Amino acid sequence: MNISNCINKSIFSLGLFSLLLIFQSKAQESNSYYETIVETMDLDILEVNLQQHVDFGSKEPGTEALVNSFNWIKSSYEEWGYEDISIDTFSYSGNECYNLIITKTGTHYPNKYVIIDGHYDTRNGPGANDNGTGTAIVMEIARMLKDIDTQYSVRFIHFSAEEVGLVGSNHYVNHVVVPESHNIKLVFNIDAVGGVNGMTNDIIVCERDESAPNSNNAASAAITDTLSNLMELYSSLNTEISYAYATDYVPFMEEGYVITGLYEYNETPYAHTPNDNIEHMDMEYFKEVAKGSLGASLYFTGAYESTGVEDIEEKELLSIYPNPVTHVLNVKITNTDHAQQLKIINQQGQTIMIEEIKMNTKIDFSQLPNGLYFLVMETENGEKLVRKINKIG
Ligand SMILES: [Zn+2]
Repeated sequence: MNISNCINKSIFSLGLFSLLLIFQSKAQESNSYYETIVETMDLDILEVNLQQHVDFGSKEPGTEALVNSFNWIKSSYEEWGYEDISIDTFSYSGNECYNLIITKTGTHYPNKYVIIDGHYDTRNGPGANDNGTGTAIVMEIARMLKDIDTQYSVRFIHFSAEEVGLVGSNHYVNHVVVPESHNIKLVFNIDAVGGVNGMTNDIIVCERDESAPNSNNAASAAITDTLSNLMELYSSLNTEISYAYATDYVPFMEEGYVITGLYEYNETPYAHTPNDNIEHMDMEYFKEVAKGSLGASLYFTGAYESTGVEDIEEKELLSIYPNPVTHVLNVKITNTDHAQQLKIINQQGQTIMIEEIKMNTKIDFSQLPNGLYFLVMETENGEKLVRKINKIG
């Protein structure tokens, strides 16, 4: 290992470490703002949209049903006020097909994207479960998020020609994502989440990447654990973790992107038949999946209640100086009401100091080796404020 490798590696592990901190600190606890949004989700619109998707008929490449379905999804977004709508056109067996991409710009990380997707084409039937369910859920998440600020940019994507071999998602990844080097935080795919009428449907499968390349598998496993937590927080469902396969996240994971996804636990026996209709689904299960998916999407996109003062408050709540530090680091906390603990953590993730909470704290760094450290303040609702400290001298 040469020096530049060594530096890159430590930067990488730092990034991963702070990422893990954020996920661990927030995924465990329910967020009352997100709860309110999930509770106000319109389950009737969800049902109407599912029915509309079904009513177009069998949506295979080359059919009028597929084109009509595309036009309906697109005009729904326009109606909700989305303006950044793009179409990724490709050809399958001599038929023009269209992926629909709707972008919502993030407030803090406009160039980093959370993709929330589901395919809208079907095979040999109306595809209520596969994938009217995913289509209606992605649409409803988008409708709910329209006027909510998200820290990350979001791309809602409705892929076409999934059923004939992931043709739409392959085209998008290879002709748009890779050539344009998109910075993607994660891909959240929803496919066939309708359950089976007459069975007990109370488990949703959360899917993680377990295939080559392996470089992105740990991140996919972490995000899928988070998805599982969130589904249980915001719906009445239990979860099971399984491996990802055979749907639109595959072209992304093959290119090293981080993916997760949802799939029903009881698998419909009517997939890809004319009987994949609403009667054979479990509507209550579908609605619970939708609630959990919305809660997860709020979390993944960094949605927040925009009071306009939140960011400033957060920044001022915990301040440190000087940074870089050689001898003594001053830590100032403007409001100690909800603070529980102050910790210094080294690059290996080990806690090396714990300080009690005071408005002003002086921490002696003079004996510590040079390098990066983290100051972590935990609050009683499980949130963690993190500041990076550079020890020099
Ligand atoms: Zn499908």
